[in-house]
Amino acid sequence: MVLRSIVKVDEELCNGCGVCISPCAEGALALVDGKAKVIRDELCDGAGFCMGLCPVGALSLEIRETESFSEQAVEELKKSAPRHYIAQHCNSCRISEDEAYLLPIKHQGDSQWVCTRCLPRLIHG
Ligand code: SF4
Repeated sequence: MVLRSIVKVDEELCNGCGVCISPCAEGALALVDGKAKVIRDELCDGAGFCMGLCPVGALSLEIRETESFSEQAVEELKKSAPRHYIAQHCNSCRISEDEAYLLPIKHQGDSQWVCTRCLPRLIHG
């Protein structure tokens, strides 16, 4: 056990939208009974990339005693369980992440996905 930073889900706030699931490259987050959950602490590296994507602020980082992050556990998970993800769509043109690269952006408190084709229009108008 080590003292380290790890993602925490506020289940009262989580609406189960799934936006945070596929951006977690380690596969640490999953929807369980309609709520996001860190399925195994050793899979979460505590980087917190998911936090900025949650539209309702349900994700945060906490520092607590837990297992160390394990790249080996991540690799084993990837081999044993192919990723099941909820495909996200560009908030502007609706193209799927299966067809285009999407980037997470923030605007006026909202988290959005935007594809690389729509991003220049958002930047330059
Ligand atoms: S993005 Fe936020 S509200 Fe949506 S599933 Fe993840 S924690 Fe829940």
